[in-house]
Amino acid sequence: MANENKLQDLIGHCKEYGFVFQSSEIYDGLGAVYDYGQYGVELKRNIRDYWWRSMTQMHDNIVGIDAAIFMHPTVWKASGHVDNFSDPMIDNKDSKKRYRVDHLIEGFVENLDKEKGEAIINQMEALLAADDFVGLKNLIDDNAMKCPIGGTCNWTDVRQFNLMFATEFGAIAADNPDDNKVYLRPETAQGIFVNFLNVQKSGRMKIPFGIAQTGKAFRNEIVARGFIFRMREFEQMEMQFFVRPGTQKQWYDYWKEERMKWHLSLGISADHYKFHDHIKLAHYADMASDIEYDFPMGFKEVEGIHSRTNFDLTQHQEFSKKKMQYFDADIDPETGKAFGNYIPYVVETSIGLDRTVMMLLSEAYQIEDLSTEERKDDRVVLKFAPFLAPIKLAVFPLTKKDGLPDLAKKLMDECRPMFKCFYEEKDAIGKRYRRQDAIGTPFCVTIDHQSLEDKTVTIRHRDSMLQERVPMSEVKNIVMKSISVF
Ligand code: ATP
Repeated sequence: MANENKLQDLIGHCKEYGFVFQSSEIYDGLGAVYDYGQYGVELKRNIRDYWWRSMTQMHDNIVGIDAAIFMHPTVWKASGHVDNFSDPMIDNKDSKKRYRVDHLIEGFVENLDKEKGEAIINQMEALLAADDFVGLKNLIDDNAMKCPIGGTCNWTDVRQFNLMFATEFGAIAADNPDDNKVYLRPETAQGIFVNFLNVQKSGRMKIPFGIAQTGKAFRNEIVARGFIFRMREFEQMEMQFFVRPGTQKQWYDYWKEERMKWHLSLGISADHYKFHDHIKLAHYADMASDIEYDFPMGFKEVEGIHSRTNFDLTQHQEFSKKKMQYFDADIDPETGKAFGNYIPYVVETSIGLDRTVMMLLSEAYQIEDLSTEERKDDRVVLKFAPFLAPIKLAVFPLTKKDGLPDLAKKLMDECRPMFKCFYEEKDAIGKRYRRQDAIGTPFCVTIDHQSLEDKTVTIRHRDSMLQERVPMSEVKNIVMKSISVF
Protein backbone atom coordinates (compact mmCIF):
# COMPACT_ATOMS: atom_id res chain seq x y z
CA MET A 1 0.00 0.00 0.00
CA ALA A 2 1.43 3.38 -0.98
CA ASN A 3 2.13 5.55 2.05
CA GLU A 4 -0.12 8.42 0.96
CA ASN A 5 -2.91 5.83 0.70
CA LYS A 6 -2.01 4.52 4.11
CA LEU A 7 -2.46 7.98 5.63
CA GLN A 8 -5.82 8.45 3.90
CA ASP A 9 -6.94 4.95 4.91
CA LEU A 10 -5.91 5.63 8.49
CA ILE A 11 -7.84 8.92 8.60
CA GLY A 12 -10.92 7.14 7.20
CA HIS A 13 -10.55 4.30 9.69
CA CYS A 14 -10.20 6.72 12.62
CA LYS A 15 -13.47 8.38 11.67
CA GLU A 16 -15.38 5.21 10.91
CA TYR A 17 -14.41 3.53 14.18
CA GLY A 18 -14.69 6.48 16.58
CA PHE A 19 -11.02 7.34 17.14
CA VAL A 20 -10.64 10.86 15.73
CA PHE A 21 -13.15 13.30 14.22
CA GLN A 22 -12.55 16.67 12.65
CA SER A 23 -13.55 19.42 15.08
CA SER A 24 -16.91 21.09 14.29
CA GLU A 25 -17.27 18.79 11.31
CA ILE A 26 -20.91 19.75 10.67
CA TYR A 27 -19.63 23.29 10.01
CA ASP A 28 -16.97 21.95 7.62
CA GLY A 29 -14.38 21.71 10.36
CA LEU A 30 -11.74 23.99 11.81
CA GLY A 31 -8.23 23.74 10.36
CA ALA A 32 -5.95 21.38 12.23
CA VAL A 33 -8.23 20.99 15.24
CA TYR A 34 -9.51 17.51 16.05
CA ASP A 35 -11.78 15.74 18.51
CA TYR A 36 -11.23 12.29 19.93
CA GLY A 37 -14.10 9.82 19.78
CA GLN A 38 -15.02 6.99 22.12
CA TYR A 39 -12.05 4.74 21.30
CA GLY A 40 -9.55 7.51 20.57
CA VAL A 41 -10.08 8.99 24.00
CA GLU A 42 -9.34 5.64 25.66
CA LEU A 43 -6.19 5.11 23.59
CA LYS A 44 -4.99 8.62 24.38
CA ARG A 45 -5.73 8.21 28.08
CA ASN A 46 -3.84 4.88 28.18
CA ILE A 47 -0.76 6.50 26.62
CA ARG A 48 -0.96 9.48 28.96
CA ASP A 49 -1.34 7.19 32.00
CA TYR A 50 1.57 5.04 30.90
CA TRP A 51 3.82 8.07 30.40
CA TRP A 52 2.71 9.53 33.75
CA ARG A 53 3.39 6.31 35.62
CA SER A 54 6.72 5.78 33.81
CA MET A 55 7.82 9.21 34.96
CA THR A 56 6.30 9.78 38.39
CA GLN A 57 5.72 6.27 39.75
CA MET A 58 8.85 4.59 38.40
CA HIS A 59 11.25 7.39 39.44
CA ASP A 60 11.54 8.40 43.11
CA ASN A 61 12.89 11.78 42.11
CA ILE A 62 10.19 12.85 39.64
CA VAL A 63 6.91 14.41 40.74
CA GLY A 64 4.01 15.79 38.73
CA ILE A 65 2.11 19.07 38.62
CA ASP A 66 -0.85 20.46 36.72
CA ALA A 67 -0.30 24.15 35.95
CA ALA A 68 -2.90 26.46 34.42
CA ILE A 69 -3.01 27.13 30.69
CA PHE A 70 -3.16 30.90 31.26
CA MET A 71 0.00 32.35 32.70
CA HIS A 72 1.18 35.86 33.49
CA PRO A 73 2.06 37.53 30.14
CA THR A 74 5.58 38.31 31.38
CA VAL A 75 6.29 34.57 31.48
CA TRP A 76 6.33 34.57 27.67
CA LYS A 77 8.54 37.64 27.48
CA ALA A 78 11.01 36.04 29.87
CA SER A 79 10.96 32.69 28.04
CA GLY A 80 11.69 34.37 24.71
CA HIS A 81 8.43 33.27 23.11
CA VAL A 82 7.15 36.81 22.45
CA ASP A 83 10.32 37.67 20.51
CA ASN A 84 11.43 34.32 19.15
CA PHE A 85 8.58 31.86 18.88
CA SER A 86 7.93 32.47 15.24
CA ASP A 87 8.48 30.84 11.89
CA PRO A 88 9.49 32.62 8.69
CA MET A 89 6.58 32.49 6.26
CA ILE A 90 5.84 33.59 2.74
CA ASP A 91 2.60 34.17 0.80
CA ASN A 92 1.91 33.47 -2.82
CA LYS A 93 0.18 36.58 -4.19
CA ASP A 94 -1.84 34.67 -6.80
CA SER A 95 -3.09 31.65 -4.88
CA LYS A 96 -3.15 33.57 -1.54
CA LYS A 97 -1.64 30.46 0.06
CA ARG A 98 0.73 30.88 2.97
CA TYR A 99 3.76 28.63 3.51
CA ARG A 100 6.35 28.07 6.15
CA VAL A 101 9.53 28.90 4.26
CA ASP A 102 11.32 25.72 5.34
CA HIS A 103 8.35 23.56 4.29
CA LEU A 104 8.18 25.25 0.87
CA ILE A 105 11.88 24.73 0.24
CA GLU A 106 11.86 21.15 1.55
CA GLY A 107 8.91 20.36 -0.75
CA PHE A 108 10.79 21.87 -3.70
CA VAL A 109 13.96 19.82 -3.19
CA GLU A 110 12.00 16.55 -3.06
CA ASN A 111 11.92 16.63 -6.88
CA LEU A 112 15.64 17.41 -7.30
CA ASP A 113 18.57 15.05 -7.44
CA LYS A 114 20.19 14.35 -4.07
CA GLU A 115 23.28 16.53 -4.45
CA LYS A 116 21.45 19.63 -5.67
CA GLY A 117 18.75 19.16 -3.02
CA GLU A 118 21.30 18.91 -0.21
CA ALA A 119 23.07 22.05 -1.40
CA ILE A 120 19.80 24.01 -1.24
CA ILE A 121 18.91 22.61 2.19
CA ASN A 122 22.36 23.58 3.51
CA GLN A 123 21.91 27.10 2.17
CA MET A 124 18.45 27.28 3.72
CA GLU A 125 19.71 26.15 7.12
CA ALA A 126 22.49 28.74 7.11
CA LEU A 127 20.04 31.49 6.15
CA LEU A 128 17.53 30.40 8.80
CA ALA A 129 20.27 30.35 11.44
CA ALA A 130 21.25 33.91 10.46
CA ASP A 131 17.59 35.12 10.30
CA ASP A 132 18.45 36.28 6.79
CA PHE A 133 14.97 36.77 5.28
CA VAL A 134 16.21 38.57 2.17
CA GLY A 135 18.57 35.67 1.50
CA LEU A 136 15.69 33.18 1.93
CA LYS A 137 13.53 35.13 -0.52
CA ASN A 138 16.43 35.18 -3.02
CA LEU A 139 16.88 31.43 -2.61
CA ILE A 140 13.20 30.92 -3.47
CA ASP A 141 13.30 33.35 -6.42
CA ASP A 142 16.66 32.18 -7.83
CA ASN A 143 15.45 28.59 -7.95
CA ALA A 144 12.07 29.62 -9.41
CA MET A 145 10.20 27.73 -6.68
CA LYS A 146 6.53 27.54 -7.57
CA CYS A 147 3.48 27.61 -5.34
CA PRO A 148 2.45 23.93 -5.03
CA ILE A 149 -1.22 24.99 -5.30
CA GLY A 150 -1.24 27.83 -7.86
CA GLY A 151 1.94 27.03 -9.77
CA THR A 152 3.25 30.61 -9.94
CA CYS A 153 6.41 32.27 -8.54
CA ASN A 154 4.70 35.51 -7.47
CA TRP A 155 5.87 35.68 -3.82
CA THR A 156 5.65 38.29 -1.05
CA ASP A 157 8.67 39.03 1.12
CA VAL A 158 9.57 36.56 3.85
CA ARG A 159 8.16 37.63 7.22
CA GLN A 160 8.16 36.34 10.78
CA PHE A 161 4.90 34.95 12.09
CA ASN A 162 4.47 34.48 15.84
CA LEU A 163 2.81 31.17 16.63
CA MET A 164 1.23 32.13 19.96
CA PHE A 165 -2.53 32.56 20.25
CA ALA A 166 -3.52 35.62 22.27
CA THR A 167 -6.78 36.42 23.98
CA GLU A 168 -8.15 39.07 26.34
CA PHE A 169 -8.21 38.57 30.05
CA GLY A 170 -10.87 39.97 32.40
CA ALA A 171 -14.06 41.90 31.78
CA ILE A 172 -12.77 45.47 31.97
CA ALA A 173 -11.75 46.99 28.66
CA ALA A 174 -8.25 48.45 28.88
CA ASP A 175 -7.30 51.70 27.06
CA ASN A 176 -4.50 49.78 25.44
CA PRO A 177 -5.80 46.32 24.37
CA ASP A 178 -2.30 44.93 24.87
CA ASP A 179 -2.69 45.51 28.63
CA ASN A 180 -5.29 42.74 28.83
CA LYS A 181 -3.48 40.39 26.50
CA VAL A 182 -2.73 36.87 27.68
CA TYR A 183 -1.50 33.92 25.67
CA LEU A 184 -2.66 30.36 25.41
CA ARG A 185 0.50 28.51 26.42
CA PRO A 186 2.49 27.24 23.43
CA GLU A 187 4.29 24.67 25.65
CA THR A 188 3.64 23.22 29.08
CA ALA A 189 7.27 23.61 30.19
CA GLN A 190 6.97 27.18 31.47
CA GLY A 191 4.35 26.10 34.04
CA ILE A 192 7.05 23.84 35.44
CA PHE A 193 9.78 26.49 35.47
CA VAL A 194 7.70 29.07 37.33
CA ASN A 195 6.79 26.42 39.93
CA PHE A 196 10.32 25.10 40.28
CA LEU A 197 10.90 26.52 43.76
CA ASN A 198 7.34 25.80 44.99
CA VAL A 199 7.80 22.12 44.21
CA GLN A 200 11.41 21.93 45.32
CA LYS A 201 10.65 23.47 48.73
CA SER A 202 7.26 21.88 49.44
CA GLY A 203 8.47 18.47 48.26
CA ARG A 204 11.95 18.81 49.83
CA MET A 205 13.36 17.72 46.46
CA LYS A 206 17.10 17.25 46.09
CA ILE A 207 18.91 17.79 42.82
CA PRO A 208 18.82 15.91 40.50
CA PHE A 209 15.03 15.80 40.34
CA GLY A 210 12.29 16.15 37.77
CA ILE A 211 8.85 17.73 37.42
CA ALA A 212 6.42 16.18 34.96
CA GLN A 213 3.27 17.60 33.44
CA THR A 214 0.75 16.72 30.77
CA GLY A 215 -1.65 19.21 29.24
CA LYS A 216 -2.88 21.25 26.34
CA ALA A 217 -0.64 23.57 24.33
CA PHE A 218 -1.65 25.86 21.47
CA ARG A 219 0.28 26.96 18.39
CA ASN A 220 -1.08 28.92 15.47
CA GLU A 221 0.83 26.76 13.01
CA ILE A 222 1.20 28.44 9.61
CA VAL A 223 0.56 25.26 7.74
CA ALA A 224 -0.97 22.48 9.71
CA ARG A 225 -1.16 19.17 7.90
CA GLY A 226 -0.65 15.49 8.40
CA PHE A 227 -3.86 14.80 10.35
CA ILE A 228 -3.13 14.84 14.12
CA PHE A 229 0.62 15.17 13.47
CA ARG A 230 0.53 18.98 13.42
CA MET A 231 -2.41 20.57 15.19
CA ARG A 232 -3.22 24.03 16.46
CA GLU A 233 -4.49 22.66 19.78
CA PHE A 234 -2.63 19.63 21.06
CA GLU A 235 -1.39 17.94 24.18
CA GLN A 236 2.16 17.64 25.43
CA MET A 237 3.78 15.40 28.03
CA GLU A 238 6.85 17.17 29.32
CA MET A 239 9.37 16.54 32.04
CA GLN A 240 11.99 19.02 33.19
CA PHE A 241 14.93 17.43 34.97
CA PHE A 242 16.90 19.85 37.17
CA VAL A 243 20.60 19.07 37.43
CA ARG A 244 23.84 20.46 38.78
CA PRO A 245 25.62 22.73 36.24
CA GLY A 246 28.28 20.78 34.39
CA THR A 247 26.40 17.46 34.61
CA GLN A 248 23.95 18.25 31.81
CA LYS A 249 25.73 16.16 29.16
CA GLN A 250 25.59 13.06 31.37
CA TRP A 251 21.84 13.58 32.04
CA TYR A 252 21.11 14.46 28.43
CA ASP A 253 22.66 11.14 27.34
CA TYR A 254 20.79 9.33 30.13
CA TRP A 255 17.39 10.72 29.09
CA LYS A 256 17.99 10.06 25.40
CA GLU A 257 18.53 6.41 26.22
CA GLU A 258 15.69 6.21 28.77
CA ARG A 259 13.19 7.76 26.40
CA MET A 260 14.16 5.45 23.55
CA LYS A 261 13.64 2.48 25.89
CA TRP A 262 10.17 3.85 26.68
CA HIS A 263 9.36 4.09 22.99
CA LEU A 264 10.44 0.52 22.38
CA SER A 265 8.28 -0.61 25.30
CA LEU A 266 5.22 0.54 23.33
CA GLY A 267 5.72 -2.51 21.14
CA ILE A 268 7.18 -0.58 18.20
CA SER A 269 10.13 -2.10 16.38
CA ALA A 270 13.52 -0.40 16.72
CA ASP A 271 13.98 0.14 12.99
CA HIS A 272 10.96 2.46 12.98
CA TYR A 273 12.81 4.93 15.21
CA LYS A 274 15.89 7.06 14.83
CA PHE A 275 17.56 9.95 16.62
CA HIS A 276 18.04 13.22 14.81
CA ASP A 277 20.61 15.41 16.55
CA HIS A 278 20.04 19.13 15.98
CA ILE A 279 22.62 21.35 14.39
CA LYS A 280 20.55 24.54 14.55
CA LEU A 281 19.67 24.89 18.22
CA ALA A 282 16.74 26.78 19.75
CA HIS A 283 17.68 29.96 21.63
CA TYR A 284 17.61 28.15 25.00
CA ALA A 285 19.45 24.90 24.18
CA ASP A 286 23.06 23.67 24.21
CA MET A 287 22.20 20.14 22.95
CA ALA A 288 19.04 18.78 21.36
CA SER A 289 17.93 15.60 19.69
CA ASP A 290 14.62 14.39 18.31
CA ILE A 291 13.30 10.87 18.43
CA GLU A 292 11.82 10.36 14.99
CA TYR A 293 9.29 7.73 13.99
CA ASP A 294 8.69 6.40 10.50
CA PHE A 295 5.20 7.91 9.94
CA PRO A 296 3.32 7.30 6.66
CA MET A 297 4.84 10.66 5.57
CA GLY A 298 8.38 9.48 6.42
CA PHE A 299 10.61 9.88 9.50
CA LYS A 300 9.35 12.80 11.61
CA GLU A 301 9.80 14.07 15.17
CA VAL A 302 7.64 12.60 17.89
CA GLU A 303 9.71 13.66 20.91
CA GLY A 304 12.44 16.18 21.65
CA ILE A 305 15.17 15.79 24.28
CA HIS A 306 16.67 19.19 24.99
CA SER A 307 19.44 20.37 27.23
CA ARG A 308 17.94 23.79 28.05
CA THR A 309 20.88 25.04 30.14
CA ASN A 310 19.83 27.45 32.94
CA PHE A 311 18.28 29.78 30.36
CA ASP A 312 14.64 29.63 31.51
CA LEU A 313 15.26 29.86 35.26
CA THR A 314 17.78 32.67 34.77
CA GLN A 315 15.31 34.60 32.63
CA HIS A 316 12.52 34.15 35.18
CA GLN A 317 14.86 35.30 37.95
CA GLU A 318 15.64 38.42 35.94
CA PHE A 319 12.07 39.26 34.93
CA SER A 320 10.36 38.37 38.24
CA LYS A 321 13.17 39.64 40.47
CA LYS A 322 12.69 36.45 42.54
CA LYS A 323 15.68 34.22 43.25
CA MET A 324 15.55 30.93 41.36
CA GLN A 325 18.51 29.47 43.20
CA TYR A 326 18.95 26.11 44.80
CA PHE A 327 21.28 25.39 47.72
CA ASP A 328 23.25 22.21 47.14
CA ALA A 329 24.64 20.90 50.43
CA ASP A 330 26.53 18.02 48.83
CA ILE A 331 30.30 18.23 49.05
CA ASP A 332 32.24 19.01 45.91
CA PRO A 333 35.14 16.48 45.97
CA GLU A 334 37.38 18.98 44.20
CA THR A 335 37.05 21.80 46.74
CA GLY A 336 35.95 19.82 49.81
CA LYS A 337 33.16 22.39 50.28
CA ALA A 338 29.42 22.30 49.59
CA PHE A 339 28.44 22.99 46.00
CA GLY A 340 26.40 25.87 47.45
CA ASN A 341 23.95 28.15 45.61
CA TYR A 342 23.33 27.90 41.89
CA ILE A 343 20.63 28.10 39.25
CA PRO A 344 20.13 24.50 38.09
CA TYR A 345 20.54 23.33 34.52
CA VAL A 346 17.64 21.57 32.89
CA VAL A 347 17.33 18.55 30.62
CA GLU A 348 13.85 18.32 29.13
CA THR A 349 11.95 15.46 27.54
CA SER A 350 9.00 16.73 25.51
CA ILE A 351 6.65 14.42 23.66
CA GLY A 352 3.41 15.20 21.85
CA LEU A 353 0.54 13.02 23.01
CA ASP A 354 -1.43 13.37 19.78
CA ARG A 355 1.66 12.54 17.72
CA THR A 356 2.12 9.45 19.88
CA VAL A 357 -1.50 8.48 19.20
CA MET A 358 -0.81 8.89 15.49
CA MET A 359 2.41 6.90 15.77
CA LEU A 360 0.64 4.02 17.52
CA LEU A 361 -2.22 4.05 15.03
CA SER A 362 0.24 4.05 12.09
CA GLU A 363 2.17 1.18 13.62
CA ALA A 364 -0.89 -0.84 14.62
CA TYR A 365 -2.96 -0.43 11.45
CA GLN A 366 -2.76 -3.50 9.22
CA ILE A 367 -4.79 -4.97 6.45
CA GLU A 368 -4.40 -8.74 6.32
CA ASP A 369 -5.31 -10.79 3.29
CA LEU A 370 -7.22 -13.83 4.53
CA SER A 371 -8.56 -14.81 1.11
CA THR A 372 -9.11 -18.48 0.36
CA GLU A 373 -9.71 -20.15 -2.97
CA GLU A 374 -13.44 -19.84 -2.37
CA ARG A 375 -13.66 -16.22 -1.33
CA LYS A 376 -11.78 -12.95 -1.07
CA ASP A 377 -11.36 -11.67 2.46
CA ASP A 378 -9.43 -8.80 4.08
CA ARG A 379 -9.31 -8.07 7.75
CA VAL A 380 -8.45 -4.63 9.12
CA VAL A 381 -6.79 -4.96 12.48
CA LEU A 382 -5.17 -2.56 14.94
CA LYS A 383 -2.38 -4.50 16.61
CA PHE A 384 -1.92 -2.34 19.71
CA ALA A 385 0.09 -3.66 22.64
CA PRO A 386 -2.73 -4.93 24.91
CA PHE A 387 -2.02 -2.37 27.68
CA LEU A 388 -2.69 0.46 25.23
CA ALA A 389 -5.78 -0.96 23.52
CA PRO A 390 -8.96 1.08 24.12
CA ILE A 391 -10.96 -2.06 24.99
CA LYS A 392 -9.18 -5.03 26.57
CA LEU A 393 -11.92 -7.64 26.47
CA ALA A 394 -15.10 -8.12 24.45
CA VAL A 395 -17.69 -10.53 25.80
CA PHE A 396 -20.14 -12.20 23.42
CA PRO A 397 -22.98 -14.56 24.29
CA LEU A 398 -23.37 -16.86 21.28
CA THR A 399 -27.14 -16.26 21.22
CA LYS A 400 -29.56 -13.97 23.01
CA LYS A 401 -31.38 -16.96 24.53
CA ASP A 402 -31.00 -19.83 26.99
CA GLY A 403 -29.41 -17.77 29.77
CA LEU A 404 -26.19 -17.10 27.80
CA PRO A 405 -26.46 -13.30 28.21
CA ASP A 406 -26.79 -13.73 32.00
CA LEU A 407 -23.57 -15.73 32.17
CA ALA A 408 -21.83 -13.26 29.87
CA LYS A 409 -22.92 -10.36 32.07
CA LYS A 410 -21.55 -12.18 35.10
CA LEU A 411 -18.14 -12.22 33.41
CA MET A 412 -18.54 -8.54 32.52
CA ASP A 413 -19.27 -7.69 36.17
CA GLU A 414 -16.20 -9.61 37.30
CA CYS A 415 -13.84 -7.94 34.82
CA ARG A 416 -15.28 -4.41 34.51
CA PRO A 417 -13.67 -2.99 37.67
CA MET A 418 -10.22 -4.06 36.48
CA PHE A 419 -10.18 -3.02 32.82
CA LYS A 420 -12.40 -1.71 30.04
CA CYS A 421 -14.77 -4.34 28.64
CA PHE A 422 -17.30 -4.35 25.82
CA TYR A 423 -20.49 -6.40 25.62
CA GLU A 424 -22.32 -7.31 22.43
CA GLU A 425 -24.99 -9.85 21.57
CA LYS A 426 -25.97 -8.76 18.04
CA ASP A 427 -24.78 -10.33 14.73
CA ALA A 428 -22.79 -13.44 13.91
CA ILE A 429 -19.73 -14.10 16.08
CA GLY A 430 -17.38 -13.68 13.08
CA LYS A 431 -18.70 -10.17 12.44
CA ARG A 432 -18.37 -9.26 16.10
CA TYR A 433 -14.75 -10.46 16.09
CA ARG A 434 -13.95 -8.32 13.06
CA ARG A 435 -15.42 -5.19 14.65
CA GLN A 436 -13.19 -5.72 17.67
CA ASP A 437 -10.15 -6.33 15.42
CA ALA A 438 -10.81 -2.96 13.83
CA ILE A 439 -10.55 -1.17 17.18
CA GLY A 440 -7.68 -3.31 18.43
CA THR A 441 -9.32 -5.35 21.21
CA PRO A 442 -6.77 -8.04 22.14
CA PHE A 443 -9.24 -10.60 23.56
CA CYS A 444 -12.78 -11.69 22.72
CA VAL A 445 -14.65 -14.27 24.77
CA THR A 446 -17.61 -16.25 23.48
CA ILE A 447 -20.08 -17.82 25.89
CA ASP A 448 -21.91 -20.82 24.43
CA HIS A 449 -24.09 -23.68 25.60
CA GLN A 450 -21.11 -25.69 26.81
CA SER A 451 -20.27 -22.73 29.07
CA LEU A 452 -23.56 -23.28 30.91
CA GLU A 453 -22.55 -26.87 31.63
CA ASP A 454 -18.84 -26.74 32.45
CA LYS A 455 -18.17 -22.99 32.95
CA THR A 456 -15.58 -22.88 30.18
CA VAL A 457 -15.51 -20.24 27.43
CA THR A 458 -13.73 -19.67 24.12
CA ILE A 459 -11.11 -16.96 24.22
CA ARG A 460 -9.97 -15.62 20.85
CA HIS A 461 -6.61 -13.87 20.45
CA ARG A 462 -6.65 -10.86 18.12
CA ASP A 463 -3.26 -11.23 16.40
CA SER A 464 -3.12 -14.99 15.85
CA MET A 465 -6.94 -15.35 15.66
CA LEU A 466 -6.40 -18.59 17.59
CA GLN A 467 -9.21 -19.71 19.83
CA GLU A 468 -8.83 -21.78 22.98
CA ARG A 469 -11.18 -23.15 25.58
CA VAL A 470 -10.42 -21.91 29.10
CA PRO A 471 -12.29 -21.91 32.43
CA MET A 472 -14.35 -18.71 32.68
CA SER A 473 -12.74 -18.06 36.06
CA GLU A 474 -9.36 -17.74 34.28
CA VAL A 475 -10.36 -14.97 31.86
CA LYS A 476 -9.73 -12.05 34.18
CA ASN A 477 -6.23 -13.31 35.00
CA ILE A 478 -5.32 -13.92 31.37
CA VAL A 479 -6.22 -10.33 30.48
CA MET A 480 -4.63 -8.85 33.61
CA LYS A 481 -1.38 -10.67 32.89
CA SER A 482 -1.24 -9.37 29.35
CA ILE A 483 -1.82 -5.72 30.30
CA SER A 484 0.56 -5.41 33.25
CA VAL A 485 3.57 -3.41 32.13
CA PHE A 486 5.79 -2.64 35.08
P1 ATP B 1 7.95 20.68 14.94
O1 ATP B 1 9.37 20.89 14.48
O2 ATP B 1 7.32 19.41 14.41
O3 ATP B 1 7.08 21.89 14.80
P2 ATP B 1 8.85 21.35 17.52
O4 ATP B 1 10.30 21.01 17.43
O5 ATP B 1 8.41 22.75 17.41
O6 ATP B 1 8.02 20.44 16.50
P3 ATP B 1 8.70 21.06 20.33
O7 ATP B 1 8.51 22.48 20.59
O8 ATP B 1 10.01 20.41 20.66
O9 ATP B 1 8.28 20.71 18.84
O10 ATP B 1 7.51 20.28 21.07
C1 ATP B 1 7.67 19.00 21.64
C2 ATP B 1 6.73 17.99 21.06
O11 ATP B 1 5.39 18.52 21.00
C3 ATP B 1 7.03 17.62 19.62
O12 ATP B 1 8.02 16.61 19.57
C4 ATP B 1 5.71 17.13 19.11
O13 ATP B 1 5.51 15.76 19.46
C5 ATP B 1 4.71 17.97 19.89
N1 ATP B 1 4.19 19.04 19.03
C6 ATP B 1 4.77 20.23 18.76
N2 ATP B 1 4.01 20.96 17.94
C7 ATP B 1 2.90 20.21 17.68
C8 ATP B 1 1.73 20.41 16.90
N3 ATP B 1 1.52 21.53 16.25
N4 ATP B 1 0.80 19.42 16.86
C9 ATP B 1 0.99 18.27 17.55
N5 ATP B 1 2.07 18.03 18.30
C10 ATP B 1 3.02 18.97 18.38
